[in-house]
Amino acid sequence: MGSLFEDTQKLLDNALKHIKISGDAKTILTNPKESLEVSLPIRMDDGTLKVFTGYRVRYNESMGPTKGGVRFHPGVTLDEVKSLAFWMTFKTAVVGIPYGGGKGGVIVDPKKLSKHELERLSRAYIEAIYDFIGPDKDILAPDVYTNEIIMGWMADQYNKISRTLTPGIVTGKPISTGGSQGRGEATARGGFYVLDELVKKNRLDPKKLKVAIQGFGNAGFTMAKILYEEGYNLVAVSDSKGAVYSADGQLCPECIMEYKRKNGGVDAIYADGRVCDDTCHEHIANEELLELDVDILIPAALENQITEMNADKIKAKYIISLANGPVTPEANEILFKKGITVIPDILANAGGVTVSYFEWVQNRAGNYWKLEKVNSKLKEYMVNAFHDIASIVDKNKIDFTTAAYIHALKRISSAIESKGTCEYFRK
Ligand code: NAD
Repeated sequence: MGSLFEDTQKLLDNALKHIKISGDAKTILTNPKESLEVSLPIRMDDGTLKVFTGYRVRYNESMGPTKGGVRFHPGVTLDEVKSLAFWMTFKTAVVGIPYGGGKGGVIVDPKKLSKHELERLSRAYIEAIYDFIGPDKDILAPDVYTNEIIMGWMADQYNKISRTLTPGIVTGKPISTGGSQGRGEATARGGFYVLDELVKKNRLDPKKLKVAIQGFGNAGFTMAKILYEEGYNLVAVSDSKGAVYSADGQLCPECIMEYKRKNGGVDAIYADGRVCDDTCHEHIANEELLELDVDILIPAALENQITEMNADKIKAKYIISLANGPVTPEANEILFKKGITVIPDILANAGGVTVSYFEWVQNRAGNYWKLEKVNSKLKEYMVNAFHDIASIVDKNKIDFTTAAYIHALKRISSAIESKGTCEYFRK
């Protein structure tokens, strides 16, 4: 396994075996357009000064302004942010929205900060990257351990510096300051629309399908709730501290979240409890969850969870990558050979950026949509992308990941080529 960013290049190389694009387009897509590293000095509540490191990467803007979330996590690195910005570039192209790909992150364990320290950090991040971003240049959104409260602070800080009201600078904001209906659950809902198409295509019965979900945050918890309502059998869920399992598929996501909240005590930002605070079900290790005998496995936490080390032990028949980068390219190859269908992140979790796009459109028009309109347009984008990619899979007898990159590459390379390539200078 190479670095995360080296792995992204393997995804590109695999797709390029099936599609011809100009040499210039390939060269441009091999490197991020711009990367920024900033120091964020923060006055802590006890009076001391602490310096955090932040990043913002604008990977490619051929199809429109760069767009991507901001992650607050102790494991953030420039390599990770570059990879996340690469995936965003292909994700926006998969669903066909007029954006390029970007991403940001701060090296911090936000659970160790007070609410005021977290607010100062969020505002300092915007001050530091202000010249790098803009509603027509680079637009922010939530990611791991950031949420709508943090997006609200970031948008407010941008407005204070620019002395304007520019809601389109950040998506995933609170509804009261220009957020969109449905954005909070869009990533999971989009993933569900894709899963639903897959289930119909394979003539499966949801009531007979067992599901395990890794990660119990925005993406994982919301997906668990939707699948529970739709009659799927939820047999296991996990968070960073452990996993719970119920062989008969009787897990109730709301009840488990209630345990997390009650036992950890929720401050305004995070549920500090653990899924394991639920005493009604069997506790298993996080790694065990990935290897359970289920029909559908949904990684919804972090990258590099299914690698060449454990791919052989995966028993699920379908994997829906709601997280970014949970399956390495090597693991994807092993799983394909085993007959396991992997729906890649750039399709499965594209619902989040799709509704972020709707939010940006609503902000610019000053005209706000009802939830039904948001969800029906989201469904249209996700279902179309699924079928476009599924037809590439069926035609070429290849895996969904490679097909999704081929689909995205057609759009991105055409945008790059339309701006002029070296082919123009050949006789
Ligand atoms: P979140 O912060 O809301 O939740 C993350 C969850 O993962 C938490 O429950 C945490 O406890 C859990 N977790 C962390 N490490 C774990 C581990 N080793 N094992 C099991 N669980 C673990 O984050 P989120 O917004 O739900 O994002 C999750 C994934 O989805 C990320 O890969 C993110 O990039 C991706 N994603 C999110 C969005 C979005 O709109 N929020 C959009 C697209 C993709």
